[in-house]
Amino acid sequence: KYERVYNFSAGPSMLPLEVLENVQKDLLNYKGTGESVMEMSHRSAEFKAIIEDAEADLRKLMNIPDNYKVLFLQGGGTLQFSMIPINLLRNSKKADYIVTGQWAKKAYKEACKFGDIKCVASSEEDTYSYIPEVSREDFRADADYVYICYNNTIYGSKFPYIPDTGDIPLVADMSSCILSEEVDVSRFGVIWAGAQKNVAPAGVTIVIIRDDLIGFAPEDTPVYLDYKTHAEKDSMYNTPPCWSIYVAGEVFKYLLENGGVPAMHEKDVRKAEKLYAAIDASPIFRGTVREKDRSLMNVTFVTGDKDMDAEFIAMAKENGLINLKGHRTVGGLRASIYNAMPEEGVDALIALMKKFEESKK
Ligand code: PMP
Repeated sequence: KYERVYNFSAGPSMLPLEVLENVQKDLLNYKGTGESVMEMSHRSAEFKAIIEDAEADLRKLMNIPDNYKVLFLQGGGTLQFSMIPINLLRNSKKADYIVTGQWAKKAYKEACKFGDIKCVASSEEDTYSYIPEVSREDFRADADYVYICYNNTIYGSKFPYIPDTGDIPLVADMSSCILSEEVDVSRFGVIWAGAQKNVAPAGVTIVIIRDDLIGFAPEDTPVYLDYKTHAEKDSMYNTPPCWSIYVAGEVFKYLLENGGVPAMHEKDVRKAEKLYAAIDASPIFRGTVREKDRSLMNVTFVTGDKDMDAEFIAMAKENGLINLKGHRTVGGLRASIYNAMPEEGVDALIALMKKFEESKK
């Protein structure tokens, strides 16, 4: 019915076909309004329902406690690298970062502009191929927050544990793993995620923030960068990214109708396990991340030979499996297999890897 490829891109990435079809159905005339959501006033009753439903559904999916605000912001992940320190360096102006990849490092570097920032652990010396073990004693007792990148999109690693920070609020970038596993939101001060991997098209960033952490931005903070601005107006202080919020809402509905996060997680584990098993059994490919720290979403592997990597990537493309090239700092291959990647896509990749191995015998 569709000429659709399996897109292994790290983001923006695949969306569930059913969601795309629903969006297409309502594209020109959203539920009898005679207009597209793209054209709709963000102050209309219809859009109000869209954003309120999206928030309510996300709260259900993630079991978000009432003392957390959910914000739909613009500026991508990159703006959160700035907004987190601006808003959360509220007492000692100290924050501790665990640097497990490029996105964590970018967040760390940005925060350094605003306070006394300490990198308490890093796996940079080993191309971020593992997650360091960190315990409570590693954090400064008076730190205003601790920051982690929960799933490292580029390197294909994921925290196998939630760091124990005691009373210090823990901030987690979950851009590339949100809604792929159940998380106890109450363990975090802030969870934030760019939408363009597991949730929606690019354009909206979800921020889930404990309400006692709002309201500490300095007086001279630009109005958009203060979480309070958005919290007080339910993400409607200014025109929100309406289209992305709408599609996110459609994805949330789809997830709720299909068993929620536990069902996604079960499928994600199944997909990742079979792909890692194929890599581990391969005479040609090998994984790049320590086994216990492997990501369910971004699977990184190499042949060890640049030309052979390129040959496989080209062969995959010919077969409708696209965007398998690894990030330039790791090389090799990366298969991003977010929630919306069908299991058949992973099966097709594994079959192709086997065929490639045969051809090299
Ligand atoms: N954090 C993570 C984990 C990411 O993967 C990315 C982008 N791929 C970012 C942050 C940066 O997001 P953005 O491009 O939206 O600024």
